[in-house]
Parts: sequence; structure tokens; C-alpha cells
Amino acid sequence: MSLNFKKFIKYVEDRNPNEPEFLQAVAEVTEDLIPYINERHPTWSDLKILERIVEPERVVSFRVAWLNDKNEVQVNRGYRVQMNSAIGPYKGGLRFSPTVNLSILKFLAFEQVFKNSLTGIPLGGGKGGSDFDPKGKSNMEIMRFCQSFMTELYRHIGAETDVPAGDIGVGEREVGYMFGQYKRIQNNFTGVLTGKGKHWGGSYIRPEATGYGLLYFVECIFENIDEEIAGKTIAISGAGNVAYYAAEKAIHLGAKVISLSNSTGTLHDPEGLTLEKLSYVGTLGRELERYPQKFKAASFHPGKKPWHLKCDIALPCATQNELGHEDAKLLVKHGCVCVAEGANMPSTAEAIKTFHKARIHFAPGKAANAGGVAVSGLEMSQNSIGQQWNAEKVDARLKGIMDNIHKTCLKYGKEEDGYINYLKGANIGGFIKVGAAMKAQGL
Ligand code: GLU
Repeated sequence: MSLNFKKFIKYVEDRNPNEPEFLQAVAEVTEDLIPYINERHPTWSDLKILERIVEPERVVSFRVAWLNDKNEVQVNRGYRVQMNSAIGPYKGGLRFSPTVNLSILKFLAFEQVFKNSLTGIPLGGGKGGSDFDPKGKSNMEIMRFCQSFMTELYRHIGAETDVPAGDIGVGEREVGYMFGQYKRIQNNFTGVLTGKGKHWGGSYIRPEATGYGLLYFVECIFENIDEEIAGKTIAISGAGNVAYYAAEKAIHLGAKVISLSNSTGTLHDPEGLTLEKLSYVGTLGRELERYPQKFKAASFHPGKKPWHLKCDIALPCATQNELGHEDAKLLVKHGCVCVAEGANMPSTAEAIKTFHKARIHFAPGKAANAGGVAVSGLEMSQNSIGQQWNAEKVDARLKGIMDNIHKTCLKYGKEEDGYINYLKGANIGGFIKVGAAMKAQGL
């Protein structure tokens, strides 16, 4: 029986009401997968591979009660979505943000399945987190929250079962508090979380990996059209871990980085950031508006995103759906030639259609930001053999992985007119191994 995209989306919508982000991610992937399955693997529709792949293997939701600094009891909700373990243990980050809900975690876990498969490392897909808001919390409050969170999560994870890491609101400090609690409860030192500090089981280059990997992927895109990044103007959104190291690598490669942003607004430096200016940004915390006081050519645009700025390359590195249809039209109008996603699903469906129509090189997050989880995979390998590789070795492996992901996108994403549809390439390239493994392992 052949699959029909509209009918399939209706089926998913009926089974998952009020989950717009999850539905958006499923539509983005299955629009490419359905014609591919119908043509190349017609038996997979009888095996209900797609119906199975959109259904998480397991979803856990739990209470997280903790004490704030005033000794008042606080209650949050924790989750872990164990989406797919066909090709390896569940792997994916934890997000702490008041915006976290099941729809968002299911979309992230779903994306993670294809992203992890693209890395070539045997990793399944998962995601978790909490509606806890880390903003304005003291260090001790963060620690108590992380400990309470892990006191429940520990029973669902393990180095061979499910290996969480960071995401928005979860960095090395939070991973440390959770890892410490896991170790206290289980009395064993395993690689059960990645993103650990480099002196206690972490990998070199893990903090930098998503941002560096993003730029390595953009380098591949430009090499493929016989051009280079040096001299290009780059607009970056976000000012977190991904944006910061993307900017650092872009500057290393000779590009001109003209923006960073956060939820309060956009910092525009028309002269371009230098490494020195970037490290100054690192000291500002959330107060990006203070930057122009020191660097006079710069300006701060409250409440604005960077997409109105003229650039050759746009790197959305903040959060989902931060780049809409109007933003996409502006980027195209101002001559942008490449959009590569450092965040997960930052471009809306209409924005992506606009990029494709304009024949812009558009690299989706599941390919372009896979460097983070790839180095998490390398951290797991180092933990399991009890070794630590140096930064040069990890960086070289990361570069090789991004290069392979790019090759996979070329293989499955080439359109008849020669245009590379990176989204299609990443969707099909990420899916085939998972689909085949699900078939091989039976029901
Ligand atoms: N949160 C990151 C991502 O979206 C990294 C996940 C990991 O390292 O497990 O891919």
C-alpha cells in the first residue's frame, strides 16, 4: 500500500492533538520520506515503519520537588522522551526552560533520531528536560533542582540505555550536579551523561563542538560551490554556547560576524566581531546592550532579531521557530546565499519553502548542528575505553564527521537541476539506517 502525506499528517495530528512543534517536525521529515518509501521501500509502509517511528518508545514524566533559598517548596515537572533505540542507546540533551512541554520535547527527540543517525555513530534518539526556569536562580538552587531531578531520572537512564547531555539551560555546571547525584545513588562512575567537565570524564572540544561543527558544515557547502567562507558577512542569532563558538570559528576562518542576540534584542557590530570583542561579550552575561558603550560603531536593537541585517550567511543559533516567513523574505531580498541552523528547527516551514524557492543553500539543524551530539558520542567512546583523547584528535574526528554528513546530504538531496536540497538529503540519509534496523529487529 502506498503512503499519502496529507493522510499521514492527519493521522499523526489526530493521535497527538495540541502538539504543534511535534507535528511541524514530523511534517518536515515525512514530506521527504513518504515519496522515498513509496518508490524505494514499498514494503516498509505495510510494516508501518513511519507510524512506529512517530510513536516514542517510552515517555516518562515525573515530579521534581525542591527547596529554594527561602526554604520554600517548589514543584516542577521533569520528562524524558525515549524516542527510538533501533540503532543505539537513546541519546539527546536535557532542556531546562519554562517553555518546555511534551510537544517541544517530542519534536526535539524526533529530530535527534535522524541527527544521531547522520553522525554515523551508533546512537538512538531521546530528549528530556523540565519546565524549571534557571534564570535568576542561585547556584545552590540550581544544584538542589538538578539533584532532585536526577533522584527521579536515574532509574530510567544508564551508559548503555540512555545517555542525556545538555541543551538550552543545561551546561557543564548542571551536568556536573546531575552526574554527581547519579554517582552518589548508583555508586559507579560511568559515562551516563555527556558534556562532563574535561577533568572528570568529559571530552575536549565538547563545549565548542556544536558551533565549530556548524562552521565545518558551512565550509563544506562553500567548498562544494568552489567558494570559501573567508570574507563573507555572517549574521548569528543567540548568544549561548552554540552561537558563541560558531562566532569564534567563523572569525578564525576569516569571516565577518556582525551580530549576536538574545531574547532582549540584537547586537549589531558592522565592523565585525574580533576574538577580543567576543570574549568581552562572554563577560556581559545577558546584558548585550552594554557592548556599544565600549565599541562605539556597534548598536543594540531592543526586541529585534538579526534577520533584517544584510549578510551572506545567516546562522540561527537561538531556538525553535525564531526565523519566520517575513524574515526569510528579507534575507533573500538582501542577498543572503546560505542559511545553516545551529539551533533545532529555528526556521518555520514557510521560511524553509522560501529558501528552497530562492535556491539558497539551506542546511537544517539535524545535519548542521550534529557536531554537538557527535562529540558526545566520542565522549561515550572515550569513557568506555577509559581514555581521553587530545583536542586535536577530537577536532579532527568532528571535522571528518561533519564532512561525512555533508556527503550524505549530497547523495540523497541532489535535485534534477543540480540544486542540493540539504533538508531532503538529511531526512532520507538519517532515516534509512533507522528504518532498516527497525525492520530487521521485528515488532
Ligand atoms: N542538545 C544537543 C542537540 O540538540 C546535544 C545532545 C547530546 O549531546 O546528546 O543535539
